[in-house]
Amino acid sequence: MTLRSGVAVSSAPPPPPQRAPARPAFDAARAPHRDSSSRDGSSRDGSPRDASRAWARAGVPVAVAPAERETPAAVHVVDDLLAHAVAHRASDLHVEAGEEGTTVRLRVDGVLRAGPPVPRGLGPAVASRLKILAGLDIADRLRPQDGRALVRVGSGGGRAVELRVSSLPSVRGENLVLRLLDPEAGLASLDALGLLPADAERLGALLESREGMILVTGPTGSGKTTTLYAALGRILARGGVNVITVEDPVERRLPGVVQVQTHEKAGLGFAAALRAILRQDPDVVLVGEVRDRETAAVAAQAALTGHLVLATLHTVDAVGAVSRLADVGVEPFKLAAALRGVVAQRLVRRLCATCRVPAAAGWTDARLLGRPPDGEPAWTPPAGPDAPCPNCSGAGYQGRVPALEVLLADAPFARRVAAGDAPDALRRAARAGGTRSVWASAVGHLRAGTTGVDELLRVLDAPGAECEEGTDA
Ligand SMILES: [Zn+2]
Repeated sequence: MTLRSGVAVSSAPPPPPQRAPARPAFDAARAPHRDSSSRDGSSRDGSPRDASRAWARAGVPVAVAPAERETPAAVHVVDDLLAHAVAHRASDLHVEAGEEGTTVRLRVDGVLRAGPPVPRGLGPAVASRLKILAGLDIADRLRPQDGRALVRVGSGGGRAVELRVSSLPSVRGENLVLRLLDPEAGLASLDALGLLPADAERLGALLESREGMILVTGPTGSGKTTTLYAALGRILARGGVNVITVEDPVERRLPGVVQVQTHEKAGLGFAAALRAILRQDPDVVLVGEVRDRETAAVAAQAALTGHLVLATLHTVDAVGAVSRLADVGVEPFKLAAALRGVVAQRLVRRLCATCRVPAAAGWTDARLLGRPPDGEPAWTPPAGPDAPCPNCSGAGYQGRVPALEVLLADAPFARRVAAGDAPDALRRAARAGGTRSVWASAVGHLRAGTTGVDELLRVLDAPGAECEEGTDA
């Protein structure tokens, strides 16, 4: 995929010729920096003029320079939608067909919120425009499709944004979801992630490993990739190491790292790619996801033969990752010898420093927190949306921080793994070795005033009374 000046270029087949080409770079500075959650539904009366007013009220300029007037309205709407999404740091943009017309929602910091209204009647054209950008077949509205595009958003050449577009035919029409990725984001530093000092210290200790296996686990959207990339950044900073990754998809291009995209149809699955990588004299290998027995076996073998292997899995907690590898057939003694540690992660939203308010009395719940946080500061988002905060658009939160469980596979833990112990026994061994749960880490963020109780409970289930150990910050 290449990027030419100001024009969206897709890796997919070129768009059908009957449509206008992508408009040159548009201006993100025109995009609103305040929340435009469509509190007014007034565009629903349907007149284009009122629709334009609704856009204007939402902060999205409708008037365009004379030279641009000839381009179809849908192109402008899409440009403005993308600019709006980027200005609000959205990870996903939903364009949903409904009885009342097309609606737009944004996912910001993991939470969906309303986006600007789409002028009535323009919904199908907007959907077509997005499908063209992503190289999808606009004539096919009956089958799900997916594609991608690289666009520039903003003035002066703009900022590259990679779009992963998927379409889904619904009973009301076509649903489109765009994932927005920043291909130039590079490596965030571990120090910039907002880890609790205790978590950062344990993670740092784990990353001192020169060989063996480090697993990172958590559901989709839990920030695993960001943490892994940041960990790679720290490893790269040591210098003199050859780092190769196999990923699906390659989300960000990393300087100094050889990244391989899997290609199942071409026979390049994770296991095949991993075997090929091991012939390339790597020091550090990152496996995007361990899904099957073969990948797990090759990864474990690589970890036992002098490589540092980082890999992700989808499990609920750290111990779950160990059990999963055992379940897919990695022999317990090999796993025990290879494993250096496991990181389980969730993201909790960071309270907006501009508008957070001291929490009212009664915010603590001894059962919830394990113990009352005597006199410690507690904060919460403001109650009323009367005057939305300009900093966070009234969300009360801005950005997210990782809550981590960092399990260090010390000798007692490794013995339990080698013995093939059940998850409960492994969990006890981990706790005995000083591993704190993700919940405990999140409570640490709560006590530090970084997040609020409502956010904690939105992301995590409160543990039962029997496992409230280790909630000390
Ligand atoms: Zn705020």
